[in-house]
Amino acid sequence: MSGAPIKPSASLEALLEENRRFPPPPGFQKHANQRDPGIHERASRDVEGFWAEQAESLDWIKKWDRLLEWNLPWAKWFLGGQLNVSSNCLDRHVKTWRRNKAAFYWEPEHGQSQVLTYSDLYREVNKFANALKDLGVRKGDRVTIYMGMIPELPISMLACSRIGAPHSVVFGGFSSESLAGRINDAESRVVVTADGAYRRGTIVPLKQNVDAALENCPGAEHVVVVDRVGEKSKAGLVEGRDHRWNDLMEKADSYCPPEPMDSEDILYILYTSGTTGRPKGIVHTTAGYLVGVSTTHKWVFDVKDEDVYWCTADIGWVTGHSYIVYGPLANGTTSVMYEGAPDWPDKDRFWSNCEKYGVNIFYTAPTAIRTFMRWGAEHVKKHDLSSLRLLGTVGEPINPEAWMWYHEVVGGERCPIVDTWWQTETGMIMITPLAGITTTKPGSATVPFPGVEAGVVDEDGQPVPPGRGGFLVLKKPWPAMLRGIWRDPERYVKTYWSRYGNLYFTGDGSKIDEDGYFWLLGRVDDIMLIAGHNISTMEVESALVDHPDVAEAAVIGRSDLITGQAITAFVTLKLGRATGSDKAEELKAHVSKKIGSLARPKEILFTADLPKTRSGKIMRRLLRDVAEGRALGDTTTLADPSVIATLKQKYEGQEA
Ligand code: AMP
Repeated sequence: MSGAPIKPSASLEALLEENRRFPPPPGFQKHANQRDPGIHERASRDVEGFWAEQAESLDWIKKWDRLLEWNLPWAKWFLGGQLNVSSNCLDRHVKTWRRNKAAFYWEPEHGQSQVLTYSDLYREVNKFANALKDLGVRKGDRVTIYMGMIPELPISMLACSRIGAPHSVVFGGFSSESLAGRINDAESRVVVTADGAYRRGTIVPLKQNVDAALENCPGAEHVVVVDRVGEKSKAGLVEGRDHRWNDLMEKADSYCPPEPMDSEDILYILYTSGTTGRPKGIVHTTAGYLVGVSTTHKWVFDVKDEDVYWCTADIGWVTGHSYIVYGPLANGTTSVMYEGAPDWPDKDRFWSNCEKYGVNIFYTAPTAIRTFMRWGAEHVKKHDLSSLRLLGTVGEPINPEAWMWYHEVVGGERCPIVDTWWQTETGMIMITPLAGITTTKPGSATVPFPGVEAGVVDEDGQPVPPGRGGFLVLKKPWPAMLRGIWRDPERYVKTYWSRYGNLYFTGDGSKIDEDGYFWLLGRVDDIMLIAGHNISTMEVESALVDHPDVAEAAVIGRSDLITGQAITAFVTLKLGRATGSDKAEELKAHVSKKIGSLARPKEILFTADLPKTRSGKIMRRLLRDVAEGRALGDTTTLADPSVIATLKQKYEGQEA
């Protein structure tokens, strides 16, 4: 964690002048799921009572005895309660008219689309739960899932939750090495994958990656393989270890009783980047998480039974866990689930999907919106988007221009926009407008969700005055908060609680304006947000230094018009090794192989030396100044100021 003070940037100055206001459209307000303007105040007067009220809407096997035990920084919610997540997402719906309601409209990148009703999903989940049991998976055992966006992914997750086996979903874009690290950390004996995934007309070799990963995972005993790309897959099956999904499903019984889970039993682990390199296994538990995601999903997105909702995230990230799988299914929602890329086969694919399914609620990321802006409004205008009634965004701060474009071009100036701030660790949306109540301002995530207490503080934990930048903190426990880092309690305390002791440190900069609205300013630690995804500078540096020619590397996220940040690496090679563009390409490929293509540096600059303090710390702040073309900040603590001056000259020369 860096304690660097936050300096107002050019974009922050622009935000200060943002005077546009968008009150809830009157028609919207009248029918909103949450339209009580006093709800925030009511919740903050009695936070526990508020969450207890929300928890009533779930199906409990046994009601809780105590709502909250707060042993700072350890929280337990709904103590003594018992429930099962998959039966909340499925069984209670199939007992009603919703059994024949679509749970997912699955849109593949190519091929036949599929409709999965709640009873279809129920049947498949029950069978796969039994298949997992047949492989010896028991309550508490971790299962790693590594797949593309196919129906078997949510089916696997729900099957795990049915038998009480925490899942660890690994995004399909991660390399075999990243996958191996996560399988080993979670000590999964079972991995569920597919023979491949389609992406922009090519095939992602998921099964080959699993095979390579398992060479370094002695504890993994079984691999279940979904047949997705069939003959186009280059991977075979390993006798005795690998099982075809279909074979297991054929043999599996059609009903699996849901395991009664304690409120605080683990639902899943999800890995996210840490500032010290090694990914952190964020732990989420059963009851609090489900209460948090179902309540936020219902109110933030204002989802009604008749709506079609589409969250474009990948399920490999927390957004997909909370707002494609658990929140929507707990609420009995119909969702679109899309396998492919926004520009495949054409740049209007998202909008053709919206038109095809009559999407009412659409949730995407600022990086996607900026890409659409660059592609031009004509791709959007080709389609009838009149079904849309609410738009959402998540992943990074949204620039007011992108917000306005989203509002005008996609939303036809009639749809409220919810800019939702949250993290893997928070599990649920934390700062957001409620579309029936909150007047929005382009670029601001507005105010904390009812029952959530957030603030902006300085280095010493003191609240900063309105308009001043500081650190975003959370002041009280919330039901979906992480319960720790998998098997690393010390790291949990150190990462989130060591800075202030009694406040949760988010790692984000923010300011609060005169109206109490939050304006997020990006990360203040060594985490980069590349297209909204968390990648740590350390991870990329370690991957670079792993290359035999590299002596040292420093990585920064430089601001980028489309992806928010892009990776720039400053690399020192070992003596006598040749630099040049071929070497740069080789190093970029090396990083993709080690971590995954999402961590591939956009640019690499070779340098004989890196700017360091007298104690030997690399000053990434100055490297950021160089990469973003700013005047250099304070260089007085450098051991040798000429290093950064030379680097600046070289960088500017290269750009010219
Ligand atoms: P992740 O844990 O991968 O979901 O990333 C969480 C991080 O994404 C947060 O700490 C923020 O830096 C950023 N983020 C997510 N949503 C927003 C938002 N609406 N506005 C600003 N930053 C966001």
